[in-house]
Amino acid sequence: MDKNDKKKEKSEGEKLAEKLLSNKKNGALRLSDEKLKKADKFCEGYKSFLDKGKTEREACAEAVAQAEKAGFVKYEAGKKYKAGEKFYFVNREKAVILTVMGKKSLDKGIRLAAAHIDSPRLDLKQNPLYEDKELCLFKTHYYGGIKKYQWTTVPMSLHGVVIKGDGEKVTVNIGEDKDDPVFCVTDILPHLAESQMKRPAHQLITGEELNLLIGSRPFKDDKVSNKVKLNIMAILNDKYGIVEDDFISAELEAVPAFKARDIGFDRSMVGAYGQDDRVCAYTALQAILKCKEPEMTCMTVLTDKEETGSDGNTGLNSSYLPYFICDLARTYGLDGRNVMSVSECLSADVNAAFDPTFAEPFELRNSSQINYGVVATKFTGSRGKAGTSDASAEFVGRIRKLFDKNDIIWQTGELGKVDGGGGGTVAQYIANLDFDVIDVGVPVLSMHAPFEITSKLDTYMAYKAFAAFFED
Ligand code: MN
Ligand code: MN
Repeated sequence: MDKNDKKKEKSEGEKLAEKLLSNKKNGALRLSDEKLKKADKFCEGYKSFLDKGKTEREACAEAVAQAEKAGFVKYEAGKKYKAGEKFYFVNREKAVILTVMGKKSLDKGIRLAAAHIDSPRLDLKQNPLYEDKELCLFKTHYYGGIKKYQWTTVPMSLHGVVIKGDGEKVTVNIGEDKDDPVFCVTDILPHLAESQMKRPAHQLITGEELNLLIGSRPFKDDKVSNKVKLNIMAILNDKYGIVEDDFISAELEAVPAFKARDIGFDRSMVGAYGQDDRVCAYTALQAILKCKEPEMTCMTVLTDKEETGSDGNTGLNSSYLPYFICDLARTYGLDGRNVMSVSECLSADVNAAFDPTFAEPFELRNSSQINYGVVATKFTGSRGKAGTSDASAEFVGRIRKLFDKNDIIWQTGELGKVDGGGGGTVAQYIANLDFDVIDVGVPVLSMHAPFEITSKLDTYMAYKAFAAFFED
């Protein structure tokens, strides 16, 4: 026995520890260079999806465009679909359900992946346009949970629709093209921030201070007042044919204007706006697009309104998903509730990645980490697990076995310390329909900030996880 052999021989304790104790390693150490390259390549498509779909409407339209390319057709109510047939149903241009019919009858259950395509942002108010001291601004009302101070001095673009007085719909997308102008919320210079700096952090910038700067040049006519406002409205009328009252029937969303970028010298991460939850939307979308003749009927739903609590007719606390499933079931002479009661769902949403710079709110033993793979989160909520579905041990066991069988790098995660805050996902609303549900998604750094960060490896593993769930 030479020196090297001695080194290889494991002690009793080492052998026992290997067998009995948890031993998670960084995913990049567990993947071949070839697989890592695959993950990087997968994220090129992801970055392009992020740039094309910065709002729920745009992400929905992009998902439909990709689905049509992959052979999906528009859902026809009452039609009996055969195994392998692919179709999509769009809800009010803001949510989409993509379905691939399985070989087995619907009453054996559905495999559903549910992600959301709305993200925190600044919505324009219904009377947004005003002039103050010869500057023109838009009043906004923020959407979702944000640290308001992060949204100042960031270049912003404007996306959405305006319904004119005569009913015509105008689509707006300005600030994304390199030749477009952008907009910005201002902040006070540090030299004069004495009193601002004494405010508590949540009031450092108040909601009513999130005013978007949109112009400064007056209309040349001494007979009118509010000349800058008039000049801006004249430009908007010229470009979009709209008048001030048209803002009343508009949905205009200001979002960060920057594009998705690689992060790090090693390009291992993606930085972009709106990765919560388009990172899971993209991966769940790619999984359903590549799904062919599955055993069980598979669905991906990309929903709206998660960030404001899932209420409203495009959110998953409404009835559009069960209505769709019930309508589909009826064509086969089945009762929708019997389908949902045996169905399974991966609630595809992000979790907070451990941040070493802000370690305090995390409980390290149960936090998700960048590059440790897709996160399965048994429960979310806050204050003693309020507002969560809490997946059963049996269902967690089933998903654990599925992931391990398919070589998926995965981890568990809990959203911060007990009583340290909390949050929810759509899991509870789908669980309330009598599905088995668990949260499965990607860990994110700087979640809900204008520029969020994910790992390419974790994103690729999320895709692999959803694909394995559908193919199982
Ligand atoms: Mn989310
Ligand atoms: Mn969120």
